[in-house]
Amino acid sequence: MLRYQTIPVTPFQQNCSLVWCDQTMEGAVIDPGGDLPRIVDEAGRRGVTPRQILLTHAHIDHAGGTAALAAQLGLPIVGPHEGDQFWIDGLAEQARMFRFPPAAAFAPTRWLHDGDTVQVGRSELQVRHCPGHTPGHVVFHSAEARRAFVGDVLFAGSMGRTDFPGGNHDTLIASITQRLWPMGDDTVFIPGHGPESSFGRERRSNLRRRHLSIRPRSGPCIASANAGNRAGTARHGSPDRRPRVAQSGTQQPVRGRAARDLRRQRNLACSWRRSSSSIFNLGSDREQRRARMPAGGIDLAVQMGFAKKAVISTGAPRSS
Ligand SMILES: [Zn+2]
Ligand SMILES: [Zn+2]
Repeated sequence: MLRYQTIPVTPFQQNCSLVWCDQTMEGAVIDPGGDLPRIVDEAGRRGVTPRQILLTHAHIDHAGGTAALAAQLGLPIVGPHEGDQFWIDGLAEQARMFRFPPAAAFAPTRWLHDGDTVQVGRSELQVRHCPGHTPGHVVFHSAEARRAFVGDVLFAGSMGRTDFPGGNHDTLIASITQRLWPMGDDTVFIPGHGPESSFGRERRSNLRRRHLSIRPRSGPCIASANAGNRAGTARHGSPDRRPRVAQSGTQQPVRGRAARDLRRQRNLACSWRRSSSSIFNLGSDREQRRARMPAGGIDLAVQMGFAKKAVISTGAPRSS
């Protein structure tokens, strides 16, 4: 059976996952973005022998430690899809831009494609190509363990950003609905940031909420916010991620649930304004509610303008 442990790494608290076969204790490191001693120590503590590095995509918080870890342990680099070549080429620049430790580009030992499989000991991971956040983004699915490691495609209560080179909102939606949902409602996914969730829960709440207009019981207030959302589509290609607040002056008083929706939209709008320079999605209201942050990491992320305080959740490793 496939086992795993999530190890949040880098100032972005990216969920690096150590996965292994509990029969052979051979393992793989998914998305070693940084903090390599923590990853290596965890493998040692659990008696896992890492045999390969698996990459979902080549953003700095996911791939920044790849070259160093591959060199340190002599591991092959498997993935992502070659659509992310330009992100790999730009790793050193990404590290400078986001004030990460220096990161080197690398040549994957094997590119991955939709329908490929990856062997971890006696366990098998199915590969699905899920572009939209980045062109070469892949996810790893263990049918036996009912788990999927989805990087920045989908989060609990939110989904990956699409407003940077190679991103595409419609493509991301198609990846989620056509390649993740068929894995089954009871499949638990490990996102690139924040807490785990299941596809069933997100299918019922997350995307549904995004694609339904939030209509007030009365008054034009939230409808205007929706219009703002549509304007956001043209500018950022990511309407649901950047809710706009209705202009004041023409509003009727809003009460009850509609008022709560509006307050939530205002908070999110603030959050997006502050994190607008980030290429990474770190925010959702659900994550904020669940947030349990170690002080150092989040403070740095806030200083860097990546995230609103308490947006990124959980500092403790989670075990399957
Ligand atoms: Zn990313
Ligand atoms: Zn990320």
